[in-house]
Amino acid sequence: MTSYTDDSVTVLGLGPMGRALAGAFLNAGLRTTVWNRTPGRDRELVERGAVSVRSAEEAVAASGLTVVCVVNYDASDAILRRDAVTAALNGRTAVSLTADTPGRARDTERWATGHGIWYLDGAIMTPATTIGTADAVVIYSGPEELYREHRPVLNALGGTHTHLGEEIGRAAAYDIALLDIFWTAMAGYAHALAVAKAEGVTARELAPFAKGIGAILPPIFEEVAEEVDTGSFSGEDNPITSATSSMAHVVHTSEAHGIDAGVMRAAEGMARRVIGLGHGTDGFMRVTEMLGRR
Ligand code: NDP
Repeated sequence: MTSYTDDSVTVLGLGPMGRALAGAFLNAGLRTTVWNRTPGRDRELVERGAVSVRSAEEAVAASGLTVVCVVNYDASDAILRRDAVTAALNGRTAVSLTADTPGRARDTERWATGHGIWYLDGAIMTPATTIGTADAVVIYSGPEELYREHRPVLNALGGTHTHLGEEIGRAAAYDIALLDIFWTAMAGYAHALAVAKAEGVTARELAPFAKGIGAILPPIFEEVAEEVDTGSFSGEDNPITSATSSMAHVVHTSEAHGIDAGVMRAAEGMARRVIGLGHGTDGFMRVTEMLGRR
């Protein structure tokens, strides 16, 4: 297989993120070809100079590098695994910035290799509004040489780009772990605002203090990462028995207001299991080691 680079790029998928990617490529002066399943989403991009084509195969044939950014891999498979598109991709590179699981990335790598397609998987860790700015964060996995080859074009997306390794599932693995943090934190915040409201505290009143809680997390993340990697879960400063007590207060207050406390009940349940297994003097992160046990 041979791959090639030039100053052109194709973007398949023009949701909010796909449009942001195409816009950044245009701003960087790249010849940008766009396609989306539903027509009409490219109007503003075309006004700014994008080339709009009627089929995904035409789009892929227009550039050596195609960036795919749709809702998930079911959608990207529906686009890429049609015979005409697969044939047009032969000898070209597809970079997937579509979020999905490590397993789907591995399956796509097998498919791509079998069809003479160069493939890198990637994930975008910041909102669409960051694309083209210093705040964008994009992670990749797959052949390093291929990453280096296309990096000059991908640089147009701004921010920080990190190649995490040759194993194709690695970017999706990071993505899943980071989304786990994001969505459980958002679920916690949504719940906190509901409980606060029931107690007569507005979201605006709580927000500055919520930011304070957010700010104490980064050093804690670093500290407990060390504990998890070494398997030492010191509870010296805050044993898990004390943590469960504060979790129970959240559950009781929520339920007294008729507010579902499912998320906190789940956290409290994990902590109580750890205590039940005889680790009550350890810190909360001992749950990491217990979670996979049957
Ligand atoms: P969506 O996740 O809603 O994806 C919309 C795109 O998917 C549209 O182009 C849509 O086409 C296409 N699509 C959906 N189903 C199909 C299908 N069956 N066949 C073909 N195309 C399909 O919006 P985003 O653009 O925001 O997200 C794209 C990716 O970027 C996702 O994986 C998302 O997780 C990721 N991402 C997004 C962020 C953001 O801030 N928006 C942040 C970080 C990552 P159509 O218009 O025809 O429906």
